[in-house]
Amino acid sequence: MIDDESESDFAPDPKFAPDPKFAPGTDFDSEAAESAVTAGYLASDGEIEASLRPKSLDDFIGQPRVREQLALVLRGAKQRGGTPDHVLLSGPPGLGKTSMAMIIAGELGTALRLTSGPALERAGDLAAMLSNLVEGDVLFIDEIHRMARPAEEMLYLAMEDFRVDVVVGKGPGATSIPLDIAPFTLVGATTRSGALTGPLRDRFGFTGHMDFYEPDELQRILIRSARILGVHVEEDAATEIAGRSRGTPRIANRLLRRVRDYAEVKADGMVTRDIANAALEVYDVDVLGLDRLDRAVLAALIRSFNGGPVGVSTLAVAVGEESATVEEVCEPFLVRAGLIARTPRGRVATAAAWEHLGLVPPPDLVFGSIEVRAREQHPGLFDSL
Ligand code: ADP
Repeated sequence: MIDDESESDFAPDPKFAPDPKFAPGTDFDSEAAESAVTAGYLASDGEIEASLRPKSLDDFIGQPRVREQLALVLRGAKQRGGTPDHVLLSGPPGLGKTSMAMIIAGELGTALRLTSGPALERAGDLAAMLSNLVEGDVLFIDEIHRMARPAEEMLYLAMEDFRVDVVVGKGPGATSIPLDIAPFTLVGATTRSGALTGPLRDRFGFTGHMDFYEPDELQRILIRSARILGVHVEEDAATEIAGRSRGTPRIANRLLRRVRDYAEVKADGMVTRDIANAALEVYDVDVLGLDRLDRAVLAALIRSFNGGPVGVSTLAVAVGEESATVEEVCEPFLVRAGLIARTPRGRVATAAAWEHLGLVPPPDLVFGSIEVRAREQHPGLFDSL
């Protein structure tokens, strides 16, 4: 349990943590990021997120496998009196990787040092961080796949032998000075585990994959958050918000705050199902959790391109957005929700997408989208058809 949640334990060293997530209040606005259902961290999430973080493994709702496996890793290390194996947590943004790292440090009763891959541009940045660790500390590196190569190579030795070789000078006169560091546990978080190099991945003793949450888990998270925030939320209102949260606790908590605002301004502060529905309509979040841009992408795909297939960049131009925004912000959820299919020739709207927009799908569509994929995978198979 975390009983002494002292500020300094979780406070990032400003030099090493320019990640906006670790600097509440920092501006991190982009048009796409402003949507209520963006899974990424927004400046407005700030301190409230910290207050809503689960504080112990028992407090952590969902992810039963990761929780159980981690509990064993931590208990084993405690019984041996050593530091646990290094832990890699992978999964989409907003699912609780940072919260879990904080819990690991809390359960071990040690301090947590926070940094992120993009902040570790040079090996020296990492060396400074590592040499300041105290025995048993947990070092959390968010977005570890974005760490610069020299820092990553230094990390190999640090993870394996608790040692770093600091190179002093340049060219033929350069010397390498070995430096012992205190035994520590690295917790790495990544949204793209496939982007991790083999040698780095191999050095983690435990990998936990965080999955999207089920609606009933999100409902429990919402009820817990409402209790902490002192908001009265009726159970069916929590069900409604959970269903529109894209399987992501960060989004669920954000929608709860927006619904609370609405309830306080337009009603008596009580969040009923009707209030939740009305508020989510104001914030443009539909019954599946789609926002305006998601719906614009679906509408363009169906109305302008007759359901596809169409390339993502063409689709992006049609909705007046950057390709990267459509590809990284909208598409993963639309694919997961079964509304679009990704094929080598482009994106295809599924029958569910047509129905979601209130349109009748073409009769051959179900077969059509499967056929598109099959044709790409087995060219020649359909030649006689
Ligand atoms: P990640 O590091 O994966 O982006 P975070 O750990 O920062 O995600 O979680 C985002 C927010 O979601 C947290 O502030 C916390 O309020 C909430 N959250 C995440 N997982 C849970 C959970 N299992 N139970 C309750 N709240 C959670």
